[in-house]
Order: sequence, then C-alpha cells, then structure tokens
Amino acid sequence: MKKGLLIIVSGPSGAGKGTVLKHILADTDHFYYSVSATTRPMRPGDVDGVSYHFISREEFEKKIARDEMLEYAEYVGNLYGTPLAPIEKNLSEGKHVILEIETQGALKVMEKRPDAVSIMIVPPDAKTLLKRLTDRETESAETIQKRMEQAKFELSHFYDYDYVVINRDDADDVAAADILNIVDAEMKKTSRNGEIKDNYFT
Ligand code: 5GP
Repeated sequence: MKKGLLIIVSGPSGAGKGTVLKHILADTDHFYYSVSATTRPMRPGDVDGVSYHFISREEFEKKIARDEMLEYAEYVGNLYGTPLAPIEKNLSEGKHVILEIETQGALKVMEKRPDAVSIMIVPPDAKTLLKRLTDRETESAETIQKRMEQAKFELSHFYDYDYVVINRDDADDVAAADILNIVDAEMKKTSRNGEIKDNYFT
C-alpha cells in the first residue's frame, strides 16, 4: 500500500487551524489527526484523548526518556508533544497524518522527516489575528500578549514552510480546500511515485 503523507500544519494561535482542519477531518478514511500530549490545563470544550492527551509534566518527561515522542516543545509555559507510534501506524495504512504543531516542533519534524509537507495557516493580517485572540475570551490579557509574541516568532519562520494558506473570516472551507489541493499535488510528485516509472522497461 502507498504510504500516506505526513503533513505539518502550524500557524499562530488565532489562525483558525482547528476549524479549518475540522473540514478535512470529516473525511476520516483518508486522514488521521495526531492527538498530541500536553501538560497544559484543559480549556472549556477540550476532551481528553480527543483534543489532547492531558498528562502531568512527570508523565511527559517519562515519555521523552522512553523516546516515545517524534518531537516536543515548550509553548507558553507548557509542554506539547507528538506521540510517534500512531503516526507510523497510520502512515503505513495509507492515511495522511496531520500534525497540528507549533513552529519549534515543526522545525524538528522537517529535519527528521524530509518527506513531510509543511503548511503555515495564517489570518489575513495582524489586526484580524489580535481580534480573534481577544474575541476568544477564554484567556487572560497576559496569555493573549504571550500568544501575540509567539505569533511573531512563528511568522519569522515563514520561509521554512513549503506552503502558506490564508484563513479569511468565514471562509475556513476555502482554506480547507486549499490544503486538500496541496495534498493532491504532493501525492502526484514524481519523487513520491517512483513505482510508476519502475513499471516501465524493467
Ligand atoms: P493550544 O494550547 O492552543 O491548544 O496549542 C498551543 C500551540 O501548541 C498550538 O500552536 C498548537 O499547534 C501547538 N501544539 C499542539 N500540539 C503540539 C505538539 O504535539 N507539538 C508541538 N510542538 N506543538 C503542539
């Protein structure tokens, strides 16, 4: 079976990654969303085992020591990491695996897995970004400020990503379609289809 695509999706908090990815994940036959582990407290709407595996710092550190994480990073005071085993399993079953991770982790995956495709989702501009963070109302002013600073850091790595997708207000279906087009094109790359050539003149 043809292996699935490893897809890194990053973007500042407030880019609307979650809503965009929801459209794509409605098609669970072809996509697998990697559920990360985190030490951050649960927020309203979070479901343990679905949004994240919510674990203690101690448990997290044990997983690192056992080499169970593809990558991990500290973000706004909490640890976030990608469990390796389900990724390998789903890729070998032909599913496209989506890693929704921040930039430090994304850079590590790009290095370890050069076959991964990386996409940065951004709001149309900084003003929209701030408005989305403020409207969320689940976070303190201090956290919002930290997330804006983090956004600056993420944007400083713009050119490390293969693709950029703009998520305009009320157009998350358009951003989702953009991502599906990227996946389609990537799967048609000659470098991912050597077996087609090998069928000739062997
Ligand atoms: P949030 O707390 O808003 O759910 O997530 C904060 C940031 O952590 C987001 O940018 C999200 O993409 C990132 N993140 C979530 N899971 C992981 C992970 O497993 N590894 C890394 N490096 N970042 C993650």
